[in-house]
Formats: sequence, C-alpha cells, structure tokens
Amino acid sequence: MVTPNMNYANLKDSYLFYNIKQKIKAYSDRYPDRHLYKMGIGDVSLPLCNQVIRALHNAVDDQSQKESFHGYIPECGQPELRENIARHYLKYSVKLDSDEVFVSSGASDELGDILDLFDKSNNALIIEPAYPAYIDASVIAGREIIRLEANKDNAFLPLPDENMVADIIYICSPNNPTGAAYDRRGLKAWVDYANKQGSVILFDAAYEAFIENSDIPHSIFEIDGARTCAIEICSLSKTAGFTGTRFGYTVIPKELERNGMNLNSMWVRNRTTKTNGVSYIIQKGASAVFTDAGQKQIQENIQIYKNNARILTSALDKLGIWYTGGKNSPYIWMKCPSNMSSWEFFDYLLEKVQVIGTPGAGFGACGEGYFRFSTFGSKEDTEEAAKRLMSLLK
Ligand code: PLP
Repeated sequence: MVTPNMNYANLKDSYLFYNIKQKIKAYSDRYPDRHLYKMGIGDVSLPLCNQVIRALHNAVDDQSQKESFHGYIPECGQPELRENIARHYLKYSVKLDSDEVFVSSGASDELGDILDLFDKSNNALIIEPAYPAYIDASVIAGREIIRLEANKDNAFLPLPDENMVADIIYICSPNNPTGAAYDRRGLKAWVDYANKQGSVILFDAAYEAFIENSDIPHSIFEIDGARTCAIEICSLSKTAGFTGTRFGYTVIPKELERNGMNLNSMWVRNRTTKTNGVSYIIQKGASAVFTDAGQKQIQENIQIYKNNARILTSALDKLGIWYTGGKNSPYIWMKCPSNMSSWEFFDYLLEKVQVIGTPGAGFGACGEGYFRFSTFGSKEDTEEAAKRLMSLLK
C-alpha cells in the first residue's frame, strides 16, 4: 500500500485569506450598497502593456501556420530569451551567462521546486513575518524550519546571527509582507554568512522592479561573493502584470557548488526531467518585457502603483503612524494604532470606513499588531481610502 507524504499532515491550515473573505462577505451581506476599498490583495489590477499583448497575439498567429509553428522548445527556456534576461542584468552591473538563467512559470513554482536540489536533512531558515509559501514548501519537504524574527527594533531586516546553523536561507527583498528592503551592507552580511557556513540563499526578488533607492540592490548578484552562495528567483507577476499570464526566471551561477556537485548542472538535469518548459506563446510575451519599449511601458503601470503608495504613506506620515515599505515596495506595513491586534484593526477599518487590508498576524506570530496595505488597487479607491484613514485615525 502506498504511504502518502505524511508531512502534509504537518501543514497549518491557512485561515488568513479565507477569514478575510468570510468577513468581507458577512459585511457585504449586511450592507450590500456599501463600496469596499480593497487594499489587501497582492494581485495587480492593471492589464498587460501593449508591447506584451502584441507579442502574445503574434505568437498565437505563429502557432497557426505550419512554417512558424513551434512544438517543444528547450526546457530551460528559448536561448534568445535567456540571453535577453542575462543582458537585462547588465543594468545592475551583473554579468551572467545566458545558461545561468532558467525560465519558469513563476516564482511560486520555483520556490517549491528548487528544494529538489537539497538533501532532506537540510534545514530552512525563514525570516518572519514571511510569505507563507516558504514555510509550507519546507514543511511539505519535511525540513526542519528555523525562524528568525524581523521586528521594529531591527527595522524588519534582521542580520545573521553567527550562532545560527542554517542550510537553506530564504531572503525576500523588497519583502512581502513588510515592504522592507535590504541595503548592500545588509545583503553583504548574509552573503558572507552563507559562504562561511556553506549555506545557500534563495533570494526572492519578485518585487525588485519597485526599488527606487540606489543603495538597495535589485539582484543579490550585485553583492561580492553571491555567485558562490545564492540562487535568485524572479517573477514578472508584479513587474509586468503577469500574475494570470505566468512567467518567471531563476538564476543559478555556475560557481555554485556544494560537496562537489554543481547546482546549475543539477537544475538543468531537474528541468529536463520534470518539465517541458514554458509555453512558446508566454515566452514570446515575456520577451517583449525585456525590449526597450516593453521596459518603458511596464514602468507606466509600476508608477501608478507607486503613486498609490505615496498617497497612503503620506496619510500615515500625517497621522504619525510607524510603517515600513511603500518606497521600494508595493506593500506598506504599519503598526496598528492604540495597541490594537491585527484582526481588531481589520474589523475596525472594515466597520468604520470600509477599508480592507491584511492582518499582519497572518504572516507569522511576530506580525501581530501590524497591518499590510497593498498598493495594487485603483488610484480613486486608494485616494478615498487614505481620506477615510485620515478622518478615522486623526
Ligand atoms: N514571492 C513573493 C514574495 C510573492 O509575494 C509572490 C506573489 O505574491 C510570489 C513569490 C509568487 O510570484 P508568482 O506569481 O511569480 O508565482
């Protein structure tokens, strides 16, 4: 008889988004005519840019003609696209070989799949509050989890403690949910720690496109020493509105070796075994993002979200409320006023001003007392939500 992976029994039920949905439904049933200002979701609201749409249409047409039709394409990605992504990194003075870039269907897929590279006995260090997938993927793989607390005292950017023995280290910068982003000095401390310990950093750069401060690296490979200790996982979801279209890329340097095994070669072997790659059509759409016109057009949407962030942070500044994020990130992580718990504040905002955010406690115990706003909503809703917060909390 088959034995299921019993680690699934160790997963904690995720009540966060379920509870939010239930509370919103109950409120809307009571007050069906009231508009809700949804500042909670981490999903984009603006459509794909024209450059991408044109490329997608052309790729569909290619598939309709015998001469331009594509069947299977290389598992690790179209060579041209891998080259374009490698060239994109030159913007950050990072030199990559195109075969260090692997295309994927998104960061979520990779964050789970990449664990195939590591022995089951390796533990995973997770900085909390955390994007829930890090914990769940590690639990499913049966790994020991070590937690490191991010808090107000360390500006939600903890540094490594030399006494910790961590194998796999998840770092998300700019961070979801806190919006905090490591500067060069902070990332250098992590890279030095990982090289010394022989750990591997899984660097989640899903929000790098929101960075505006020149001291915040877009890529961990901007840091000396990262090529021997890091894997970078990226996504076009928030960068270019691909949440529903699905595309990401992962960088594994050729120097990354442990126990005489080369992780780049191992990942080639993994991909050629476990996937037949990302669809031709989607890779064509993604290619358009890395053209000059594509880069310009995706910035137009990012600037709209950034303007939403300015509207909300300016309200919080006026109210004297402590927060991180909002500048190099689409998330704002605020301290709940009057020592309210995360869920108390959620209920208070919903009942009094119909503004919805995400309770920080849903991202780990040390998120209690904090609240996350996302800036992916419309400008109109964000402006009205900011006005309502001002009048309620002043
Ligand atoms: N990593 C972080 C930190 C995220 O917030 C998200 C999505 O919200 C992802 C990864 C998933 O990205 P994708 O849509 O590419 O799977």
